Amino acid sequence: MRVYILTLFPEMFPCVLNASILKRAQDQGALKVDLVNIRDFAVDAHGTVDDYPYGGGPGMVMKPEPVFESLDWIRGQIEDEPYVVLLSPQGYTFDSAWAKEIAQKENVVLIAGHYEGFDERIRILADTELSIGDYVLTGGELAAMVVLDASVRFVPGVLGDDDSAWEDSFSHGLLEGPQYTRPRVYRDMSVPEVLLSGNHDAIMRWRRKEALRRTKERRPELLEKARLTYEDRRLLEEIEKEQSNLIEA
Ligand code: SAM
Repeated sequence: MRVYILTLFPEMFPCVLNASILKRAQDQGALKVDLVNIRDFAVDAHGTVDDYPYGGGPGMVMKPEPVFESLDWIRGQIEDEPYVVLLSPQGYTFDSAWAKEIAQKENVVLIAGHYEGFDERIRILADTELSIGDYVLTGGELAAMVVLDASVRFVPGVLGDDDSAWEDSFSHGLLEGPQYTRPRVYRDMSVPEVLLSGNHDAIMRWRRKEALRRTKERRPELLEKARLTYEDRRLLEEIEKEQSNLIEA
């Protein structure tokens, strides 16, 4: 996957790009990131990228020309049309499904806004607008990093164990259940016996049940949307019985 990030603050990215999975993905050639400074495409000698809003009001608005020009420049660099994402609090809420979708694109452009936002005409450039949550950031840079990091996990070969992104929370519509590592007992807290049993089927069943339990407790609305099997429904009944036994006890 090749990702171009259009930003006014490219200096915000190296720390994130040069660590952990994102660095490894680039070293392996699974990911290539180009930081494109929108200011380099300003149309005047002063590098102006923002201007006062027509009609008045607070703050400055990002001018259209530098963003259009930088995207034209990117189009000149690649053969296929890129998939263009505008980071915006007004966009669709970014989630695991979006991350999987973006991971399938060969060329992606992430446009990070700043100031009071974009000139409305910039919106025409985008294939989609994504928000990382119902709050307003200072700029789209952190949002671009979130979208990039979560999406790259679904690019084949990026994670050590190819399956693990698909096992994570949300991937199957459920939260992931509890995980343990050594020591077996720590401060009187023990690892559940089943995980030490070596019985693969029992472990799988326990994991599924605990994922269902956790989702039911923390994000019940996800359960309503999840594709549940007959066995899942049986496990949920067991969980409900356990809960009512606890209340009675
Ligand atoms: N005035 C704009 C509005 O109400 O929609 C918000 C502008 S915000 C201060 C500046 C930039 O940060 C936005 O153009 C966008 O690129 C980015 N941004 C802010 N919040 C975001 C969010 N929740 N998700 C994605 N990008 C966001």
